[in-house]
Amino acid sequence: MTQSPLHILEHTFGYREFRGPQAAIIDALVTGKDALVLMPTGGGKSLCYQIPALARPGVGVVVSPLIALMQDQVDALRALGVRAGFLNSSLSPEAVRDTERALWAGELDLLYVAPERLIQDRTLELLHQCDIALFAIDEAHCVAQWGHDFRADYLRLNVLHQAFPQVPRIALTATADVRTRQEIIERLALEQAEQFIAGFDRPNIQYRITQKNNPRRQLLQFLREEHSANAGIVYCLSRRKVEDTAAWLCEQGFNALPYHAGLSPQLRQHNQSRFLRDEGIVMVATIAFGMGIDKPDVRFVAHLDLPKSIEAYYQETGRAGRDGEPATALLLYGLEDVVKLRQMLGQSEGSEEHKRQEQQRLNAMLGLCEITSCRRQTLLRYFGDNLAEPCGNCDACLHPAETWDATEAVQMALSCVYRTGQRFGANHVIDVLRGSEAEKVLQFNHHKVSTYGIGKNLSAGEWRSVFRQLMARGYLDVDPEGYGSLRLNPSCRALLRGETAVHLRKDAKLAAPEAPRRSPARDIDPVDLPLWNALRACRKRLAETQGVPPYVIFHDATLREMVARRPVTEAQLLEVTGVGDSKLARFGEEFLAVLRAEDYEGAI
Ligand code: ADP
Ligand code: ZN
Repeated sequence: MTQSPLHILEHTFGYREFRGPQAAIIDALVTGKDALVLMPTGGGKSLCYQIPALARPGVGVVVSPLIALMQDQVDALRALGVRAGFLNSSLSPEAVRDTERALWAGELDLLYVAPERLIQDRTLELLHQCDIALFAIDEAHCVAQWGHDFRADYLRLNVLHQAFPQVPRIALTATADVRTRQEIIERLALEQAEQFIAGFDRPNIQYRITQKNNPRRQLLQFLREEHSANAGIVYCLSRRKVEDTAAWLCEQGFNALPYHAGLSPQLRQHNQSRFLRDEGIVMVATIAFGMGIDKPDVRFVAHLDLPKSIEAYYQETGRAGRDGEPATALLLYGLEDVVKLRQMLGQSEGSEEHKRQEQQRLNAMLGLCEITSCRRQTLLRYFGDNLAEPCGNCDACLHPAETWDATEAVQMALSCVYRTGQRFGANHVIDVLRGSEAEKVLQFNHHKVSTYGIGKNLSAGEWRSVFRQLMARGYLDVDPEGYGSLRLNPSCRALLRGETAVHLRKDAKLAAPEAPRRSPARDIDPVDLPLWNALRACRKRLAETQGVPPYVIFHDATLREMVARRPVTEAQLLEVTGVGDSKLARFGEEFLAVLRAEDYEGAI
């Protein structure tokens, strides 16, 4: 009585068709093969193991390092009528026993397990007594020592292959680079696995990279004008800045919460679950936050500091818009970011080789910030994906940047760095160029150098733009020991002599590019707002009684489709994307009551 994958997709999940490579991946597992899946965040990885686990006899065992999220994942599956459970250190001994008993009795379709729990003898022995549909190894890049999320427990997962050679395994990750992929294959013995590498494009995310000017004002404008009632993440580099920014956003009337590794585990857990459960929370966080957060309706990710690499940037911004609805990724960056990161890398421990790699990654990131062509094409090319045409949904496509002939300004900038002894930071050099009488200028007798005052025709802001771009392009180095002092890189000789023309990008004026409002109610006709609000209230009520996040009941897209189609019978409601058998049985009556009331009111 096993069901076909398509039947499960329609009846259990309420979706009509598979996305991208899902069908092929599921097919490979159902026929007993191993698979390695690389898909961007939000691409739809979970279905790739959930459906085969349901289609094959026995329990699907999912290994995940994200203990804090297991409860929510299991709740979401139960709402779909799937028999799911989890085992990790957060459970009481009784709860562990209950789950183990259910497992032993064959009453589970899916079991989520922390890696350290799975590799215990006790767990392995228990699993030997069960029918196992498959092993899914989520966040598989954790096995790679080269990567940034390495977990020692993951190394021991190769025991699965040895102890259960018959059981198909699927390893999944959103981390793209070839080296990590190779390490996953070796360490998990997946040489025979079919590889599925999905395209990395996330077309619904609008990428915007803007010069930092007055970051708080820029953020505020962005939030107020485009995302006033939306959930989103604001990333900052330091814990201090996280706390300050969160407090300040609260003063400005937003529901903002901080998250960083310095907070107590309880508070982190509390803030994370509020982010998942309440609507419209802005999470201000360091990069400690986000791995495995599969909240589908994150509408924006804003970076107030420059990420260290394109990998990190793409992973962090990928947390926006998993539901496929429009979302925004905003990065504000400036001269200080370049100086700070270059310095941090210079001082970091580790081999020269390691430093060189980090440097290359940072250079690629800076290149992305400074290009004047389509951001998405550059991003995807970095991951080996090709986008034939400019995307039309990034700042560079929507508001093409102008460039200017900066040959002469560049010569002035470089020679002023040289004349002042290559011992000063950009701000001081700019003071000299602009003929400032600042104390420091006079103190070092820099009002006497030949470049003093020759750059008055550009504003300080314009000069900062010049210096930032020179650093980003590697013509100026930042001394890791000094206080951000600049030095000429040998590559700048031709520029210094004026032999090569240089075109730089003109920084956009502060005015944000006009963009459509993206509140959850967008596309809702004002006459439909009462129904929309009634459906949302119904969802909220059900979510609270069930103790789950609202999106576990239904996604925004499902509610929007209800507004558009006005189903009033069960059969009509079942047509709506996201409504499967179990959700119809559990929540159908309540939503139909709202829809029918509306129908009645509309009729009179
Ligand atoms: P990932 O784990 O790859 O980041 P998820 O598995 O969380 O992504 O899926 C992202 C979102 O896409 C989820 O909300 C999921 O319900 C939805 N989704 C996945 N596959 C489909 C599909 N075939 N049709 C419609 N929605 C889908
Ligand atoms: Zn573009």
